[in-house]
Amino acid sequence: MIKFLDLYKQYQSIKEEVDSAIGAVIRESAFIGGKYVHAFEEHFADYLGVDYCIGVGNGTDALEIAIEALNLPAGSEILVPANSFIASAEAVTRVGHKVVFCDCNEDDYTISIEDLENRITDRTAAVIAVHLYGHPCDMDRLQEIANRFNLRIIEDCAQAHGARYRDRSVGTIGDIAAFSFYPGKNLGAYGDGGAITTNDESLAILCRKIANHGRIEKYNHEFEGRNSRLDGIQAAVLDVKLGYLEQWIDTRIQIADHYNENLSGIDPLKTQVRRSWVRHAYHLYVVRTANRDELKQFLLDNNIQSGIHYPISLPKLKAYQYCQQASEDMKANQFDRELLSLPMGEHLEIAEATIVTNKLNQFFKK
Ligand SMILES: *Cc1c(COP(=O)(O)O)cnc(C)c1O
Repeated sequence: MIKFLDLYKQYQSIKEEVDSAIGAVIRESAFIGGKYVHAFEEHFADYLGVDYCIGVGNGTDALEIAIEALNLPAGSEILVPANSFIASAEAVTRVGHKVVFCDCNEDDYTISIEDLENRITDRTAAVIAVHLYGHPCDMDRLQEIANRFNLRIIEDCAQAHGARYRDRSVGTIGDIAAFSFYPGKNLGAYGDGGAITTNDESLAILCRKIANHGRIEKYNHEFEGRNSRLDGIQAAVLDVKLGYLEQWIDTRIQIADHYNENLSGIDPLKTQVRRSWVRHAYHLYVVRTANRDELKQFLLDNNIQSGIHYPISLPKLKAYQYCQQASEDMKANQFDRELLSLPMGEHLEIAEATIVTNKLNQFFKK
């Protein structure tokens, strides 16, 4: 079986370091807060090139807390890509704002800047820039529009650890950013985890307080916050894995280049366009075809796993019926029937990628 993802294989390659890191946290009872969390926050901020990093409970919390910290007027409209994971939209509503879905680009699948601009009203206050599949959004154009209409930019980097827009890491460009360390992400913990990054000191302090019961010092609560913390064991695991992230992403890029080369001749199959100004982190490698479901089954019959991201566009979910955007003529409302994610990760060998592309070529020759 060619696996979509193989976290156990990854663990075996770093077992000694991970086991000893976890052992140290337990020996020192540094379960919540403490030196392992601080060390990881500092190392991750250095890796990205950002001033502040705040570890939190998961990526969804990171988005929620980041949006809350911006203190936008209650009920503000926030622009969210229709093609994303629900958390990108959920966080907006949870903080008391209104989700307005925007279409995706036809070729790289990130948020469409043209569509987004058309949806701006007097009440629009922010945009969630999801670096979907690990491909950065067009941040210069987004920043230009944000400046013109006075919008804040929240980067959703849950799929884009290690991705770069021109020479900057994602998570350092907008006003504030959210990362997820869900196990299957490019940088994944052994449980839930997340982080907020920003260059704005006052936002960083506020996020830190919101995530920790409205306090900096023990029992001196300035306001009602919540509890969302990265725990010591997760931080220690992440700190070990951070040392391998660059090399793992390089492998992802090699696999993606190999896929691109060997799939370019298939007319009914569209590969994702990679803009010249990005370093794509390839959390996912997606292709698009009208015969998606048949292709998925064919691959499975040939022992190749694949995934669908996402099978139902956000506007078409029952949860967002109230937004009344399900029947809008958006590409995102059609691509959910066409997108397929091929196996991707540092667990793959080039020989396995060749088997995948051979099978795809075979499928389309039938
Ligand atoms: C995974 C993901 C999240 C949420 O992260 P969790 O840690 O699972 O809460 C948010 N946005 C996107 C785009 C994601 O892929």
